[in-house]
Amino acid sequence: MRKLIILSILTTLFLFIACNPQGIKENRLNAYDMELKLDPAFSTLSGRQTVTYYNNTGMTLENIKFNLYMNNEKFGGIKILNVYGANVERSEITGEGKNILDVRLIKPLGKNKRTAISIDYIVTLTENKLRTGYYDGRYNLANFFPIVCFYSDGFIEGVYYPWGDPFVNEAANFNVKITLPSEYELAHAGQLKNKRAADKNIVYTIEHRKARDFALCAILDGKTVKSSVGGTEVISVAKNPTQAEAALNIAVSAIKTFSEYFTPYPYRTFTVVCTAYSAAGMEYPGLIFIDERLKDRDLEAVIIHETAHQWWYGLVGSDSVNHAWMDEGLAELSVMLYYILNDRRSDADRYRFYAEAGLNSFKELSGYLNISIDMNKSLAEFSSEYEYIAVAYHMAFLMFAEIYDEMGGKAFQRAIRGYIRRYGYRMATPDDLKRVLPLQ
Ligand SMILES: [Zn+2]
Repeated sequence: MRKLIILSILTTLFLFIACNPQGIKENRLNAYDMELKLDPAFSTLSGRQTVTYYNNTGMTLENIKFNLYMNNEKFGGIKILNVYGANVERSEITGEGKNILDVRLIKPLGKNKRTAISIDYIVTLTENKLRTGYYDGRYNLANFFPIVCFYSDGFIEGVYYPWGDPFVNEAANFNVKITLPSEYELAHAGQLKNKRAADKNIVYTIEHRKARDFALCAILDGKTVKSSVGGTEVISVAKNPTQAEAALNIAVSAIKTFSEYFTPYPYRTFTVVCTAYSAAGMEYPGLIFIDERLKDRDLEAVIIHETAHQWWYGLVGSDSVNHAWMDEGLAELSVMLYYILNDRRSDADRYRFYAEAGLNSFKELSGYLNISIDMNKSLAEFSSEYEYIAVAYHMAFLMFAEIYDEMGGKAFQRAIRGYIRRYGYRMATPDDLKRVLPLQ
């Protein structure tokens, strides 16, 4: 009996070590300390943030660049009011669309050294159903703050393409304080550390660790429901309480299924918010936006897909600008796996059939239009959203599904757990994925 217990402890320990991503040193991640204020009366979000930048580039840096995704024709824009810090010499807005903030340092920053940069800004929100904006009392607040450009032989300047998720971010730590009118319900990523009333406002203090991004959504008179699964608090926010319940149940089931098959969910909380969002769903680490018009099967499939991104993008990062097929293909495969693992084979077959039909109709069109079908095109190279979906979603999904068929569920699970273990909280390349799966 005792032996069995010891064996069981050792097995659990082995599984824990075998399945958990290799340790990353949290104190080597960039840290964002943000104070935000949402002012619906003026359609603005004002912010003051201090970024403690840790130089893990292996190079000495004379400047640090930030993406300003809000400076795009789709959005109202971000105005940088002030940039300061003990090591800040000067800053300028660059890039064709004024989408880059370039901060020059007084003293070059050596390898493995850190420096703090503070930025005050104001974001103008416009009426839309996109990642950032408002519509009928719903405020989608994502990609609004200056975020450090990903470094790979220089800072990569992000461009907001009309399709895809044009974001490549490293894991970072976030401490966020946000003030908003008390009649708004806040959906946020991360753990709520404090919530207090202040005049007619509510002030939330939130912490989010080892996350590639930080997003929020405020809904006028929204409703929140909660549950928990395997140590993860699952939260659902929507205008309609029935929809909040439906989304919660799906999210709980998806977190449970993927935590068991892949590895435990990487954050302490998971929030799904049904909001005014025109592109079905959007993933952020610890928070997903879902189009509130979705119902039944579509609501379920989109929530499962966006939940799977918590592993494919959230935990294992990849370049979604140049290799969008990596996280989108695995997220689509995960939807099929979800159905299989929950004994819903006909739903799995149906999901695969739709992808095959979608890809085949694009192939016919591509023949007429002489478009080359290539999964490794960058977002800039796709001719349309139709091509992007056919290739990065359907084609990649079907490739992974074939590999799953060939390997079988158990072997595939072992391989994919190895992928997470090696690349969790890091950035994986196509070659890294080829090391664990027999890709062509
Ligand atoms: Zn996706």
